[in-house]
Amino acid sequence: MFLTQEIIRKKRDKGVLSAEEIEFFVRGITDGSVSEGQVAALGMAVFFNDMNMDERVAFTLAMRDSGQVLDWRSLNLPGPVVDKHSTGGVGDVVSLLLGPMIAACGGFVPMISGRGLGHTGGTLDKFDAIPGYCTVPDNELFRKVVQEVGVAIIGQTAQLAPADKRFYSIRDVTATVESVAMITGSILSKKLSAGLDALVMDVKVGTGAFMPTYDKSVELAESIVAVGNGAGMQTSAILTDMNESLAPYAGNALEVRGAMDYLTGRSRPARLHEVTLALCAEMLVLGGLAATDEEARARLEAVLASGAAAERFARMVSALGGPADLLENPDLHLERAPFVVPAPALSAGFAHVRDCRSIGLAVVSLGGGRRRPTDAIDFAVGLSELVGLGEQVAAGQPLAMVHARTEAAARQAVKEIQAAYEISALALTPKPVIYRTIRP
Ligand code: URA
Repeated sequence: MFLTQEIIRKKRDKGVLSAEEIEFFVRGITDGSVSEGQVAALGMAVFFNDMNMDERVAFTLAMRDSGQVLDWRSLNLPGPVVDKHSTGGVGDVVSLLLGPMIAACGGFVPMISGRGLGHTGGTLDKFDAIPGYCTVPDNELFRKVVQEVGVAIIGQTAQLAPADKRFYSIRDVTATVESVAMITGSILSKKLSAGLDALVMDVKVGTGAFMPTYDKSVELAESIVAVGNGAGMQTSAILTDMNESLAPYAGNALEVRGAMDYLTGRSRPARLHEVTLALCAEMLVLGGLAATDEEARARLEAVLASGAAAERFARMVSALGGPADLLENPDLHLERAPFVVPAPALSAGFAHVRDCRSIGLAVVSLGGGRRRPTDAIDFAVGLSELVGLGEQVAAGQPLAMVHARTEAAARQAVKEIQAAYEISALALTPKPVIYRTIRP
């Protein structure tokens, strides 16, 4: 038997908590026997005094076990259960591509995704842009779609990692989100509760990334790889660039259209393709579906070229209640914004994105993201044809097309886009799209 305040005191005094102490505390978070003040105090003590890798593993496993843990073994799936998670970005539609691509290569992807946070878009909001698509199916339907289609992308349920839900909401209002130890536990407890064999983590780097510096992104990636593997799930991380929107579009329905264009081959933007292939290839190798990176990439190109990946996407959408002809007739189902106007460059030169965060925030102010958790989203709005970093533009040439609900919102977004880009006289050295892969 432990005393909650003694556990807090130990961490306050830079002690190392035992797995039993951590399990006791996390049980208290879940059943409410640990008060909000005590949760906040431990959060602040961890923020300052950190957790070593053993503590992080114990913390992550305790949060995983605070609720339901999915078990796929009884289905005898003929392939590995794998997933990807990203720290969040702008124009990041990778999940919509990767799930169907991996399914077409023989993997099974039970992807439990989240809503948009701050300036970043959320996969769940993108699927909510598809009329009829059910992001909260019951467990039976979720399992059936994973088994039959190979991929189901749905939303978080209250049964998965409830300790994290309470802990995160308290961290959020007590300035303790920015702790690598607690971020690791929060992300991995949710991913582990999905019963995965392998996980590839996309840790973003740059002005649109959740982590503030390159070094912090590396620290988080290393922590996730160590703790994920320590908790029995094969885990790798890839550091990818988020100094500009990953795709040349951002906004929910626009991203669904873009994802379908990618899968059918109508348009495959280079940066998006590079990140998608890197994450998918790592996943195929981790899951034992390919022996080498080269073999994995060849298989992925093949399922794109044959239409097999596009077909998985279409089957997933209809199995979860969306329109059966979404790929063929997107205009029948995905809303378009009434005002589509250019955001002209104010001078000639090389386009430089000053701050990728402000591109994401422009989408939020158009109504494509939330200011408060209870806000409704306007799926139709957003940006398209975003000029890439380093591209040369003439004065007056559009930096992006703004898709808005009202003329006033469009005017405001044009100003925000013009402010987000700096037009420089000098050509810029291009940044890599993939920085590093971290394996155990
Ligand atoms: N995302 C999460 O799920 N948890 C964190 O702690 C931070 C970002």
